Amino acid sequence: MSLKLAVPNKGRLNERTLELLRQAGLEIENGGERKLYAHVKNGDISVMFLRAQDIVRFVHKGAVDMGVTGWDLVLESELDVKKMLDLNYGRCRLSVAVPESMGVCGTDDVPNGAIVATSFPNMARKFFEEHGKEVEIATVSGAAEVTPHLGVANLIVDLVSSGSTLKTNNLREIAVIAESQAVLIASKKSFASKEREMTDLASAIQSVIAAEGKRYLMADVPTDALDEIRAFLPGVAGPTVMNIVGREDIVAIHVVVDKSCIYDSVNRLKRLGATGILIVPIDRMVP
Ligand code: AMP
Repeated sequence: MSLKLAVPNKGRLNERTLELLRQAGLEIENGGERKLYAHVKNGDISVMFLRAQDIVRFVHKGAVDMGVTGWDLVLESELDVKKMLDLNYGRCRLSVAVPESMGVCGTDDVPNGAIVATSFPNMARKFFEEHGKEVEIATVSGAAEVTPHLGVANLIVDLVSSGSTLKTNNLREIAVIAESQAVLIASKKSFASKEREMTDLASAIQSVIAAEGKRYLMADVPTDALDEIRAFLPGVAGPTVMNIVGREDIVAIHVVVDKSCIYDSVNRLKRLGATGILIVPIDRMVP
């Protein structure tokens, strides 16, 4: 059965999402900024390019079966969709920030009656209600960080990643409402009839995420150093050990290693007499 997948048509999540789908093996025809939809050459999947904000609603309605969007937008929508995967990019947090000059250090200090500018009115309202604060929510469609300087709001609730935009605008982050990243979501309406197709796509994407930060290491090592090597290179299910024709004294090992451990592992292997060390990237890891 064919699957409709919605992808952000521009903005921060667009490029990495298309790259991820390609790494997962999908050959997307003419995927680009101005396209409204594209066909996947090697699978029964149509890709729709939509605004990240709209993707949650369309997935919820079942107009598309699956979508990639920000978790912040799913939370703000308050719609019931099925989260299939965290995608490990587009990381940010929804935070409360105040002008440095306001002298407010935490949520408890926010005065009742303060005006909060935000593109996330539902989450902001809920947050201040939970903290017993009566604030006025002023919904803006973007650039909330300039509103305190314009005198139209006292504080903001906005997405933060590095914090540099806040700093540039002399704003201080005083509370984190929610953490976010890109997610793969599925429509509960179509899940029953398309569970297999949805799970296949999610597991292909998961295999790319699993391979991120991993490398495949190959080396020829002295046979009598194998036990010691196994202790610091455990691999996924133990290193693969292969005989080398005509040699008793050395064997070849293949092992999946965390990228962060490569420097140390290679140095240790060399000290134990390893030769012919090769390190290659891994496209996907399917368990
Ligand atoms: P767009 O408005 O299309 O660029 O997409 C915005 C989405 O990108 C947000 O809803 C977040 O999920 C994600 N994102 C990641 N980092 C940030 C950030 N620093 N500011 C805004 N959005 C971010």
